[in-house]
Amino acid sequence: MSLSEEVDSATGVTAGTVDRHATTETFESTAPATGAVVGVFPVHDATAVGETVARARAAAGQWAALGFDGRKQRLAAYRGYLARRMHELADLVHRENGKPHADAILEITLAVDHLAWAAGHARKTLGPRRVAAGMLAANHAAYLEYQPMGVVGVIGPWNYPVFTPMGSIAYALAAGNAVVFKPSEFTPAVGAWLAAAWRAAVPDAADAFQVVTGFGETGAALCRVPVDKLAFTGSAATGRKVMAACAETLTPVLMELGGKDAMIVDDDADVVAAADAAVWGAMSNGGQTCIGIERVYATAPVYDRFVAEVTAQVQRLRPGSDDAATYGPMTMPSQIDVVRRHVSDAAGAGARVVTGGPDTSPGERYVAPTVLLDVPESSAAVREETFGPTLTITKVRDAEEALERANDTTYGLAGAVFSKSRDRAMDLARRMRSGMTSVNSVLTFASVPALPFGGVGDSGFGRIHGEDGLKEFTRSKAITRQRVPLPVNLMSFGRPAGAADALARVMGMVHGRHR
Ligand code: NDP
Repeated sequence: MSLSEEVDSATGVTAGTVDRHATTETFESTAPATGAVVGVFPVHDATAVGETVARARAAAGQWAALGFDGRKQRLAAYRGYLARRMHELADLVHRENGKPHADAILEITLAVDHLAWAAGHARKTLGPRRVAAGMLAANHAAYLEYQPMGVVGVIGPWNYPVFTPMGSIAYALAAGNAVVFKPSEFTPAVGAWLAAAWRAAVPDAADAFQVVTGFGETGAALCRVPVDKLAFTGSAATGRKVMAACAETLTPVLMELGGKDAMIVDDDADVVAAADAAVWGAMSNGGQTCIGIERVYATAPVYDRFVAEVTAQVQRLRPGSDDAATYGPMTMPSQIDVVRRHVSDAAGAGARVVTGGPDTSPGERYVAPTVLLDVPESSAAVREETFGPTLTITKVRDAEEALERANDTTYGLAGAVFSKSRDRAMDLARRMRSGMTSVNSVLTFASVPALPFGGVGDSGFGRIHGEDGLKEFTRSKAITRQRVPLPVNLMSFGRPAGAADALARVMGMVHGRHR
């Protein structure tokens, strides 16, 4: 029986992953395209979450003791398992989230890539090393190492139900932690599948990665248990609640929040390539992408051509659930109202709607890709995260004005710059107020495992992916070892009376000459 068949079975609960807890309440996950039930899952209450974390804690010591090589071998088995069953998992993502099967494959590929990188680079990034001891401790050896924290709680969203949580799960596991993952209530089957796959691929450390399911209360319980670190990905509004809950137990948090990402299209940009990237960045995954492009600032010389090209490309997009569809239904019904409000507010404030629009048929889960021009900068479509298939395009004088407007947001997740001038593009990219920027492409940074992923401002703090992502799930530990005792010990009440004066003279000679 395939794992997805197991979660589709009468109970909808994957054996051995989420059904072992004492809880009676359940909830259904449904396919946004058809309304069919994908699975039935337990609502884990605080007791059940506590039991799961206790099991993870018991497993964490053994998982850490496997060392870098032992963990690398098991993480390889897990990624091999995912890679072999890619279509099965992609089909489940397609059904439960609604995105096209091909996009699900892309997201799983990225997740597998991150699993490989995290496991392959953990020793080099985190392993014990000796560092220079410095002048005052010259007779000591100094060591630095990054130790696992214990149990990491991961709370994830529904938009990329494999790739997004794996950005925390893979790095936390590779760093030697056990993980308890709470998927979104809209994608519990995918979360359960990932945990079942772990148990199948890594049976000797099965409790090192477990899943709990439910609604916000289950996530809140995970914050309060407590865990040793809570990695949250979701909206800024929920992020604030999670931080407040974690404050009660002084649990450190990692916050991957929303964005309002901008693209700058400069005078010398390849307009066709920029339009292609903008359409993909804004409309793929039905616009439900944290690092999706929501605003474009195009300079006057390229504006008209850019708008025409974007419009033509958007008109070729096709909704649906079959293999030819380019975008699927909105996963979370309430998001449709947000998109509709942003579009109708903008239209009411004088924006031109060149494709799509605010209307969807009653009960309809597909939102037409919508391009908006002349949108006032004060409107919700420019200021708030829309998280739907919309794009505002604004004409600006030059790239400096584009950058100023791109940076005029409380968010700061990612962005893009299009220009054929390498130096100018890199300069704009550096000055963009964001955690990540792509030059002459969109979203590329997310597929480079060595690069850190995270935002500034209301987009959160902390980093997943890359070396920073590994260190994020560790505690740095400092150790010194005295190699030889010195006749004069400055950190002793027995030091000679003139020792401090002698030290001051030495410091004056070494550092005092600098002005
Ligand atoms: P939400 O903030 O609504 O939910 C995120 C997760 O938090 C869900 O699992 C949710 O559970 C859970 N949750 C809800 N309430 C609480 C609570 N009080 N305590 C603990 N956990 C809780 O976000 P969405 O799922 O709607 O995801 C979309 C958002 O995620 C967008 O803002 C998007 O930009 C952002 N995002 C950011 C990314 C990044 O890397 N920066 C990547 C992907 C998305 P439940 O669903 O059961 O309510």
